[in-house]
Parts: sequence; C-alpha cells; structure tokens
Amino acid sequence: GNENRELHVLFFPFPANGHIIPSIDLARVFASRGIKTTVVTTPLNVPLISRTIGKANIKIKTIKFPSHEETGLPEGCENSDSALSSDLIMTFLKATVLLRDPLENLMQQEHPDCVIADMFYPWATDSAAKFGIPRVVFHGMGFFPTCVSACVRTYKPQDNVSSWSEPFAVPELPGEITITKMQLPQTPKHDEVFTKLLDEVNASELKSHGVIANSFYELEPVYADFYRKELGRRAWHLGPVCLSNRDAEEKACRGREAAIDEHECLKWLDSKEPNSVVYLCFGSMTAFSDAQLKEIALGLEASGQNFIWVVKKGLNEKLEWLPEGFEERILGQGKGLIIRGWAPQVMILDHESVGGFVTHCGWNSVLEGVCAGVPMVTWPMYAEQFYNAKFLTDIVKIGVSVGVQTWIGMMGRDPVKKEPVEKAVRRIMVGEEAEEMRNRAKELARMAKRAVEEGGSSYNDFNSLIEDLRSRAC
Ligand code: UDP
Repeated sequence: GNENRELHVLFFPFPANGHIIPSIDLARVFASRGIKTTVVTTPLNVPLISRTIGKANIKIKTIKFPSHEETGLPEGCENSDSALSSDLIMTFLKATVLLRDPLENLMQQEHPDCVIADMFYPWATDSAAKFGIPRVVFHGMGFFPTCVSACVRTYKPQDNVSSWSEPFAVPELPGEITITKMQLPQTPKHDEVFTKLLDEVNASELKSHGVIANSFYELEPVYADFYRKELGRRAWHLGPVCLSNRDAEEKACRGREAAIDEHECLKWLDSKEPNSVVYLCFGSMTAFSDAQLKEIALGLEASGQNFIWVVKKGLNEKLEWLPEGFEERILGQGKGLIIRGWAPQVMILDHESVGGFVTHCGWNSVLEGVCAGVPMVTWPMYAEQFYNAKFLTDIVKIGVSVGVQTWIGMMGRDPVKKEPVEKAVRRIMVGEEAEEMRNRAKELARMAKRAVEEGGSSYNDFNSLIEDLRSRAC
C-alpha cells in the first residue's frame, strides 16, 4: 500500500472567465478534501485566478503564453474573453494548442497523478498518456446539455430538416426535447476549423479517463443515468461547484474585481423585501446593442420590480441608451441598480431579497440560480445555452422563456421588445406560477446543498474518483 501517499492533481483550465471560475471552484473542492491541488495558467490570468482562489490551499504554476508573433493575437491577449470581443476566437483557440509543450514540461517537473484539463484542450489526453497518468475532462457542464450534444452528434437529426426554424426532436434522448437548427452549438457562423475542433474534443473525451460533470445527481437523474448507461461514458458528478464558496467574502471574490462595492451592494439588498429583486446578467462577455438595452430598461420599469442589472457595454461611456428620465425615475428612487462591468454574481443571487434571475443560460449561471433557489427567465445567446434554457423551462420547470429563437448576432434576431421582457419578469416574480416555480427551485437548492455535504451524492462521487485515482497512482 500506497494508501497514505499524497495525491497530486493538476488543473488546467481554459483561459476564459466562464471556464476559470468553475475550475477554481472545483479545485477548491479537491483542496478542501485534503488533496494536493495545483492550477496551471499563463501569467496574465494569474490575478483573476488568485483572487478566485482566495484563502484556499491551491498552488498556482505558470507556463508562458506564446508570443503575439507566434499567434497573431494582439499583445497581452491571454484570455478568450478579450479575444471574443474582437472576433479573434478561432485565432485564440489555435494559439492555445501551443501551450502543449510548456504544459508537458511542467508535468515532467511536477509528477502529478492526474490532469484535470478543460474540454478545449483535446490534446491533453495524449499529453497525460505520455506520463502514464489519467486525463480527466472538465467542461463545466451538466448531464443534460452533454446528452443533447451527444445525441445530436450521433444521430444528426438536423440533416433531415431544411429550414432553420423548424423544430425537430432529439432522437433517443428521454424527455421529448425539440430544438431547431438555429439553436445548435454549431451554426452557419462556424467554419470548418471550429467543427474540426469539436470533433477533436469529442474524440479526446471518449479516449480520456472520464468526465467531471458540474452537476448533482438529484437535479437530472434521468440524464445522469442516460449519460452513463446509454451513452456508456464514465463520469463523476461533483457539483454544484459554486457551493464550494462558503462565506460572503469568497462569493464576492469569484472572477474579476467587482465594479461595485460589495458592502454597498449588500446594504442595498438588505433594504429590500425578500424575493422582491430581479437580477439580470448575461454572462461574462455578452454585450447588447443600445436598442436592446433600451428595451430591457423599459421592460424592467413596466414590470414594477426592483432590479440589479449587469451591463457589460461601453463601460466608460455615458448611459446614453437609457430611456429618458430613467435615471431619476428608477435609479434615483432606489428601484434599481445598474452594475457596469463585473458583478459579484453568487453573492447577489444568494441574498434573500433576490427572487428571480434573467440569465443567458451559461451552465454556471444556471446552477448558481438553482443553488439560490430562484426561478429564471431564459435568454440564451450561443453555444449550448439553448439546451440549458430547455432544461430550465421543460425539464426542471423553473424557467420562463423570453422568446429568443436564434443565436445573438444572427439574422432574424431582432431586439426583444419591452413587452416580452416585462411579461417574463412578472411571470417569475409575482403570482401563483412564480410561487410554484420558486418552491420547486427552493427544493432543488436544498437538494444541491445536501449533495455536497458529507454522505451526499456529489460528496460520495468525489470519494469514488479519489479511490480510483489512488488505485492508479500505486
Ligand atoms: N460572473 C460574475 N459576474 C459577472 C458575470 C459573470 O461573477 O458580472 C460569473 C458567473 O457567476 C459565472 C461565470 O461568471 O460563474 C459565467 O459563467 P456562465 O457559464 O454563466 O457563462 P459564460 O460567461 O461562460 O457565458
């Protein structure tokens, strides 16, 4: 026996905020269970990562990001969120392939027992194999979107429909889910390079040791079972990883520095009635057009609800798109807060005054909403967010759709008008339907907390993973 030998797990998150945050949350789970945990990143991502790590016992190791001459990226671009805003995402994805040698050199020095690498590093499976250690994939998603993706990939139902807007069923998947071509993670916007990358991601996942899902069994038992039994994949559900942040300070420190003083924010929330504030945030990078922002403002005003609204657009510009008189009428009266930039999202969601969440349906946000026990308005933008939206509205039934049908930036996606915004916000905030959804959401939140506590489903799955890794490390 090597029972007492210390396990060393190396995390290698993809440099995007929406990937780094859940990876660090997951790393915190490992560290808190006594596993030696190291996160590998590039120099310019260190501030974000060390803020998010806070007091947790997690080491950071850096490898150099390739130079801008090698990559064709602007100087200082080491995070895909900045690449996205300038449409350089494919260039960025290609650049990260050059991290392979530096990562392998580091593995040679560090002798980890396992590498937990993001899905966007398909090559990491082979890198780990070179050192005879398992590569585990972390893509930060739950079982439902992963199962939808797998069924679409296998059965290609989209090939049988010609129109972009005609709904079709996802074959084999339990729950009779229908989607349209416009809602698939691959749209006409994508070139062959992206399609090829997704093929590689899938192949490398199949070859890998298994997948860590950011989910808990009770949230989606049908899909957790389907993933393992029908699709025959190995997976551990260790989430919701956002629950590894215990106190207000930890919750406030995830990701970038907040664009609002946390104490001010909490004070404002304290002054409101329970479940009387709707929180709106569309992920770490989405910026809306002025026309869309104006409709949201009008819809919020018409809904009569208190709100905290995170706006990522034109951070240094004046709020010219705000409807006339909005500042005095609404913001001045304490009805709403606009956060321009990064918000302490989990801290806000977990406050008892927050009773609803308007979300772009990134999986992290979806789970954070579940853990806060709030009904959600679904407003998907791209990637697998349309799947996640279906999960909220059709499967767990704690969501109401605002009505968007296609990717943002695609033809036919006009701004959502104030009326559907107002209506959807009211549906999750007031009345019987809201009450029912809130009760279901609160029940899921209770199950989520139980899942990560000693003896819970995620807690136990963590033990299985560690046992498995130990048996290999001998
Ligand atoms: N987030 C935050 N403040 C913001 C925007 C996002 O804390 O102003 C966090 C959010 O809590 C979540 C992550 O960033 O953990 C975003 O991940 P998600 O999967 O929801 O969306 P993505 O940004 O990847 O599209």
